[in-house]
Amino acid sequence: MPHSPQDSIAPHLAGIALEHTNDGIMITDADNHIIYVNRAFAEVTGYTPEEAIGNTPRLLNSGHHGAAFYQGMWRALREQGHWRGEIWDRRKNGDIYPERLSITAVPDAEGGIECYVAVFTDIQALHRAEEKLQRITHFDALTELPNRAQLSERLHQLVEAARRDNQLLGVMLLDLDGFKNLNDRYGHALGDRVLVAIAQRLKQVARGSDVVARLGGDEFALVLRGLPHMDEVERVADRILALAGAPCEIDGQRYELTASLGITLFPFDGADPDTLLRHADQAMYQAKEGGRNRYHLFDAEQDQQAQTRRQLLDRLAMALNHDELELHYQPKVNLRTGQVVGMEALLRWRHPEQGLLLPGTFLPHVEHHDLIVEIGEWVVRRALLQIGAWEREGLVISVSVNVAARQLLREDFVECMRRCLDDFPDVPPGRLELEILESAALENTRHVRGVIETCWGEGVSFALDDFGTGYASLSYLRDIPAETLKIDQSFVRDVLEDSDDLTLVEGIIGLATAFRRTVVAEGVETPEQGVLLMRLGCDIAQGYGIARPMPAAAIPAWIADYRPDPQWALWADTHWEMSDFPLLVAQYDHIKWVRRILFYMDGGTLQLSPGELCDHRQCRFGHWYYGHGWRRYGRLQEFIDLEPIHVAVHRIGPDIVELRKAGQLEQARERVRELLALKDQILEKLAALQRSVAGKSVEPDFAQIGLF
Ligand code: C2E
Ligand code: MG
Ligand code: MG
Repeated sequence: MPHSPQDSIAPHLAGIALEHTNDGIMITDADNHIIYVNRAFAEVTGYTPEEAIGNTPRLLNSGHHGAAFYQGMWRALREQGHWRGEIWDRRKNGDIYPERLSITAVPDAEGGIECYVAVFTDIQALHRAEEKLQRITHFDALTELPNRAQLSERLHQLVEAARRDNQLLGVMLLDLDGFKNLNDRYGHALGDRVLVAIAQRLKQVARGSDVVARLGGDEFALVLRGLPHMDEVERVADRILALAGAPCEIDGQRYELTASLGITLFPFDGADPDTLLRHADQAMYQAKEGGRNRYHLFDAEQDQQAQTRRQLLDRLAMALNHDELELHYQPKVNLRTGQVVGMEALLRWRHPEQGLLLPGTFLPHVEHHDLIVEIGEWVVRRALLQIGAWEREGLVISVSVNVAARQLLREDFVECMRRCLDDFPDVPPGRLELEILESAALENTRHVRGVIETCWGEGVSFALDDFGTGYASLSYLRDIPAETLKIDQSFVRDVLEDSDDLTLVEGIIGLATAFRRTVVAEGVETPEQGVLLMRLGCDIAQGYGIARPMPAAAIPAWIADYRPDPQWALWADTHWEMSDFPLLVAQYDHIKWVRRILFYMDGGTLQLSPGELCDHRQCRFGHWYYGHGWRRYGRLQEFIDLEPIHVAVHRIGPDIVELRKAGQLEQARERVRELLALKDQILEKLAALQRSVAGKSVEPDFAQIGLF
């Protein structure tokens, strides 16, 4: 092989290179005795070449690595001819230091080992820098507690471990109460010392892998694992508050602070680590709001509801912009004249996936949000638009619109109404009625009165909706001058069965008449309810018994086809004396008494006192018969005829109860049939009595009322 000039100077240069490189170099023979070290070796290890040569590398052994580590190294050298890795060695002065080491086995001509060449770099400085960086990025400089970044990392691990071991993990957020005041008053240096003291105390709570971290300012986090049960959580929370709340003694001065603690518990709160912290934070704010110096446990269910509400809110706002909302209209009719007197506009949401939604499914979730105000304005505008459209078709219809409390109570409500009306100059404002909830009007009667009176100036009228549900007092009717009262449908529903509801409805109608208000009954489902309402003096009704709410397009045809129930025409020209009202009540009292016997037959409890059951003078019907009824109708034959039947009823009733008790069901049923026949006779006699009192000659089928 030809020799180049480089070949001849190479050994010399190699020697220079070995001596001047910054890496330590050590060469050992096949028996692993050191035969060469360079200058950098001496600098790093502290051993001179004389001291090193002849020794084995065990000279540098730090004891840091076990036998397995060295076995792995030798295996790699044997099998691959080299090894590379990080290793801790010991300097001559005893210091242990990390180095990055690379060893190569140099083969000889016979396939054995000529020598081993080890090249290493001292990376202690690098390690120190890394550690420092680690400290800076993961620990809080003031308290030396883990910081937010470190907490987040640890929390991920702890959540994983808690999930695996099926353990309770408490994630807690602590914020000092009034720390800012202390800082402002005594200066930041003192504030810092207080923080350090509190950090020290909080550390006492932590065991094993628990974490106490400082998130910044006066905010600390604790992640505690292995909490056995809720009692323990409470105990720990109390302890943390006591630790944080104990006075701090600094330079002979005492400083007292308290803390608010928010807690969430994994896995009850199954959120991801970041969300757990957020939940603990939320709970901490609730502890603050609850009066500080306390802890608050995060309620996952409550939070879920809040979240669902937020989502619904967003979705509903979108629905408003995407034209998914619409109004349906439910007619109101005059029972006596058969006239259609107006429509109530009722909101619907045509949801692309869920179909047509009723307001009860979405409005209650937004009633405390400004979105309801926006929706309310949309409803008014849409109703005005519709009134105008009907008007152009030749239909003159008034429309009432529901107004939410939040909308009504706003300062700018009247202005908003004015703007709406101005935008529909062809709609007479008199066609618009606003329905306000009794409960909303009660919240601020003075404001509402002002709104009503100002809107009157514009021509708009008002109704009090759901009347009877809002605990209104008499004086309140004086304060809220709405022209119309709408009797809540819950009273109308049972008016035929429940004499208390009947009395309530009668009372509302009486009140409305006394205050010269119009009264509208909601929720009229049967013709009989209509008859009763009319006789009580309420002529205007709305309900499924007349029509269900329908899209605007269906209204003209409905009006054209509408025929009032024939039963109503029968009573149209009679007027019932209110002093005869107890007679009506007596009828429903008797029906109710019989129902209670039937309920007992069916295995229910007996809702009658012994007196009410056995004594024909002590049931509610009996009270009427021998009291008001006797005085008012005592001479009328229909009234006299009632007594023997009623007495018989009170013989049979107790019999049925006894037979049922004795388990003689067949006989009991037989007696029930007799009782029902007597009930029909009583209702017939009562109807006859009512007819003769009202001076009616026609014969409506009164026994049909309150069917069983
Ligand atoms: P409301 O103002 O008392 O309206 C009457 C409700 O009773 C309507 O329910 C109507 O469909 C229902 N209803 C009518 N007749 C009968 C009947 O014979 N039987 C029964 N069981 N129910 C009957 P809807 O449309 O579901 O509305 C419920 C409530 O939602 C309304 O009660 C009203 O308070 C509110 N609401 C409806 N639309 C709006 C709106 O545009 N704005 C506001 N703020 N609230 C609205
Ligand atoms: Mg209404
Ligand atoms: Mg209502």
